Amino acid sequence: MKKQKICIIGDGLSGLTAALVLSNLDIDVDFIAENKQEKKSSDPRVTAISPSNFKFLINYLDIKDSKFFWPCKKINLFYEKFNHLHNFINFSEGSKNLLYIIKNDNFKKILFRRIKGKKNIKIINKEVKKVDTKNSCILFGKKSYVYDLILLCVGRSSKIISDFVGKRYIQKDDKEIALTSIVSHNINISDPRQYFLKEGPLAILPVNEKIFSFVWSVSNKFQNKNINDLVYNKLKKILGNKTNINLNKIFTFPISFKFNSIFSKNNSLVLGDGSYNVHPVAGQGFNLIIRDIMKLFQFIEYNQSLGLPIRDSEIIKKFVSSRKPENLLFGLGINLTNSFFKQNKITSPIKDFILKDINKFNFLKEMSIKISDKGIFQSLK
Ligand SMILES: Cc1cc2nc3c(=O)[nH]c(=O)nc-3n(C[C@H](O)[C@H](O)[C@H](O)COP(=O)(O)OP(=O)(O)OC[C@H]3O[C@@H](n4cnc5c(N)ncnc54)[C@H](O)[C@@H]3O)c2cc1C
Repeated sequence: MKKQKICIIGDGLSGLTAALVLSNLDIDVDFIAENKQEKKSSDPRVTAISPSNFKFLINYLDIKDSKFFWPCKKINLFYEKFNHLHNFINFSEGSKNLLYIIKNDNFKKILFRRIKGKKNIKIINKEVKKVDTKNSCILFGKKSYVYDLILLCVGRSSKIISDFVGKRYIQKDDKEIALTSIVSHNINISDPRQYFLKEGPLAILPVNEKIFSFVWSVSNKFQNKNINDLVYNKLKKILGNKTNINLNKIFTFPISFKFNSIFSKNNSLVLGDGSYNVHPVAGQGFNLIIRDIMKLFQFIEYNQSLGLPIRDSEIIKKFVSSRKPENLLFGLGINLTNSFFKQNKITSPIKDFILKDINKFNFLKEMSIKISDKGIFQSLK
């Protein structure tokens, strides 16, 4: 069988990770990014990665890269009631790490560095304008390049995605945005916290003891207000008025739950934010994508072990039927949790009752840790 060739379009976290992981198979990879890495605008976010996903990823990185990940052993959850914050649940499993947090810019840099060192990856800096899914090829002007598999990792707003997935999707748009920035401070914060505030959930994600990133999901009407003052005052209130905080530039990201019905056609597959978006409240978006990449790797590896080609095989079909239900369930579960904590007439009166003793239910806590670590189906095994 001739050497198989795949194409990965997009150099966000999905494309970079897919290229690095899949290049460990006996295949050639064309990795297409619209901008040169040096010209990329910075990504102000951080990503929290679950222990199983971290263990999987670190296999493909250098041991030196692990210093960029901040390991966390505890997670504390709070909710706001009558202007007070109640710590209603704490997660910990002794000395085990529950999360690894990394700045996206550092993450992309180390992934890119590893990709550059791979002999079977060819990096091409071009914007892909057209994908011919029928003939499994990419078109650059009049030239076409044929592949055994095309992965579109081009994010949620790329034009080629809207052409690809069409209008069939499940969407819940609460007209929210995520505010995020990096904060340095003079106290010690080594573990993440999630605050369910009246305006929306705010997560604190440390990248070391003196620096954290926050993600605050709020109504998009906030955009018209003085966001800097609002965030600054909120953080002061949460961390204590005596805490010195230095707030960097605040960035906003659109958020909604969106799940495309179609994300594969013939030998082309959409991976990452282009196929589905989950609410960032649980920090699960990229964790689901890592599991998708793991699964795709397994299916291709299995095919290759039987000497079967990738093109026109069952790989994409098997991938879609194994990952679609879990990703959809996850997205819906996150929405449900988010709705429960919103101030509303239905859940607000029962919130106290439900949350009062929740910290005592160890089974529930263990199950939540397992699910966010390994995913729903894997943790039920
Ligand atoms: C505020 C916030 C916080 C988050 N925190 C977490 C977290 O803690 N944990 C977690 O698991 N997830 C988190 N997520 C989700 C996670 O960040 C995303 O799922 C992930 O970054 C998606 O990456 P992507 O590569 O799919 O898309 P993108 O980052 O959008 O990348 C797409 C890339 O494709 C390139 N591209 C687009 N079109 C073309 C083209 N035509 N040709 C060539 N290249 C093209 C673009 O230049 C871009 O580089 C968070 C999301 C938000 C908004």
